[in-house]
Amino acid sequence: MTERIIDLRSDTVTRPTPEMRRAMAEAVVGDDVYGEDPTVNALEQEAAQLLGKEAALYVPSGTMGNQIAILTHTARGDEVLVDDQAHIYYYEVGAPAVLAAVQLRPVTGLCSEEGSERLREALRPANLHFPTTRLVCLENTHNRRGGMALSLPVMREIYQVARENGLAVHLDGARIFNAALALGCQAADLAACCDSVMFCVSKGLGAPVGSLLCGSREFITRARKYRKLLGGGMRQAGVLAAAARVALADRQRLIEDHAHARYLAEQLADMPGLALAQTRVDSNIVVVDVSGLGLTADDFAARLAGRGVLVSVFGPALVRLVTHRDVSRQDIEKSLEVVQEVCAAAKTGIL
Ligand SMILES: *Cc1c(COP(=O)(O)O)cnc(C)c1O
Repeated sequence: MTERIIDLRSDTVTRPTPEMRRAMAEAVVGDDVYGEDPTVNALEQEAAQLLGKEAALYVPSGTMGNQIAILTHTARGDEVLVDDQAHIYYYEVGAPAVLAAVQLRPVTGLCSEEGSERLREALRPANLHFPTTRLVCLENTHNRRGGMALSLPVMREIYQVARENGLAVHLDGARIFNAALALGCQAADLAACCDSVMFCVSKGLGAPVGSLLCGSREFITRARKYRKLLGGGMRQAGVLAAAARVALADRQRLIEDHAHARYLAEQLADMPGLALAQTRVDSNIVVVDVSGLGLTADDFAARLAGRGVLVSVFGPALVRLVTHRDVSRQDIEKSLEVVQEVCAAAKTGIL
């Protein structure tokens, strides 16, 4: 019998549940580019309502959702302020430069408790030489900051400063429901602090494909055109949207992932040679520094992989572990045993 692989690389690796498969098989569909897919339309309505926005657009990926938002908010040559650790800045292939032809300016600490101060400092007066700053992009929960949930008061402060200065705010809310659970608020409360918001159904929620971009009716009408431009107009997408609706209805389940991540982090922090690279575990992401073992992150990840546990390399000495629907408490226990073995082997220099 081959041993089961425990995949902690990302919450995107979840497989659709039997209930999702059933919904997909039975989905009523039509051509969504004509606006005629009833299942996609229902999903978009549900998403808009949940986020307290007028309208929503189902897109193939979170990256496309963010890029469509940037295209819709900006004009060529504008400047977009992002956190220096933002997914948009780090992991979207430089798309804002290619697609919207905008300049991203990384602002250290934008997505931190001092965010509104950092934003104020980053603003510049009108001047012939400066680009026109148009948009602020926030991220909540924050992937590279260990799944940190940015608090509602801070989100409100940042939105206020942005509005006072005529800037739009887009929220990369790939994991907005994780953020809402962590903060004990509604996703709509967070969405009220921005003009547009993208969230993924393909992460911890467990749907196979897709994200939703939400905003005003006027914004989404223009965004729909950019989706078509990018080739993101899908036809009988209701087969995918059906699974997304099941995933969205079951969003409370994310609380389990948070409990698993907290337990995982507590246990890892106690292992000699490992140190948590974050001060809090708010959601389903744990980043660990392995330099105390005398191993690189690549080495550490390879040794775990050899024992059936997959993690992501997040920096030269950092690995990321993410809990999700397809990881049980038992899997966490098993993973901890494997990490323990690898740590012990590293210490004795064996292997
Ligand atoms: C995963 C993720 C995205 C992009 O989603 P894809 O569907 O992988 O393109 C955007 N922002 C954050 C914070 C993410 O974690």
